[in-house]
Amino acid sequence: MADREFIDEVMRRLKKRYREEMKTSLEFANPWELLVATMLSAQSQDIQVNRVTRELFKAYRTPREFAKLRPNQLYRHIGRLGLYRSKGRNIVATAKILYNDFNGSVPRDMEEMVKLPGVGRKTANVVLGNAFHVYEGIAIDTHCITVANRLGIARTKNPRAIEAKLMELVDRKEYVNVSHLFIALGRDVCTARMKHCSDCMLKDICPSSDAR
Ligand code: SF4
Repeated sequence: MADREFIDEVMRRLKKRYREEMKTSLEFANPWELLVATMLSAQSQDIQVNRVTRELFKAYRTPREFAKLRPNQLYRHIGRLGLYRSKGRNIVATAKILYNDFNGSVPRDMEEMVKLPGVGRKTANVVLGNAFHVYEGIAIDTHCITVANRLGIARTKNPRAIEAKLMELVDRKEYVNVSHLFIALGRDVCTARMKHCSDCMLKDICPSSDAR
């Protein structure tokens, strides 16, 4: 099983290959916009979400404006994204709560965030880390699950268990970085469908490498 020394080396190589400071590729101007974009990103590509939110935030901006909408008024803006009906309902319901209970602001802590409709731990981690620089946990998506298992960091598909293991192994200030570096590797050479180990910068240290 992976230890700190191994993770440090993985992080060092991934940073060299991708970027020292990684961040979400979702576009946002404030925490509310990132929360909406992250809620829309479930089972949709960030690039598609960015196209949608660029137009959406021209029409409606604040939680107050979203709270006044009926979900079907949102559908015409977000209808090209998967699961748009449930996403639209959750965004309007969340906007109402923020407007009524949080003075129109996104809460800065995990406990309050995961009570919002449609907001799970992954979404909360993305918003807390990227918008507030509050590092309570690590956002684990399907790429992170694949990469963590292949690197021997975890032997489970359970995001919460993988997050807990990574939180033991990386410094808090790296919580956003590790998530986005694993996503970058998972989109690049270590995809769920195929691993391209001969092109991977971890091929000589990865326990699942085919290229050693
Ligand atoms: S060496 Fe292969 S299995 Fe390991 S991280 Fe790279 S692509 Fe994935």
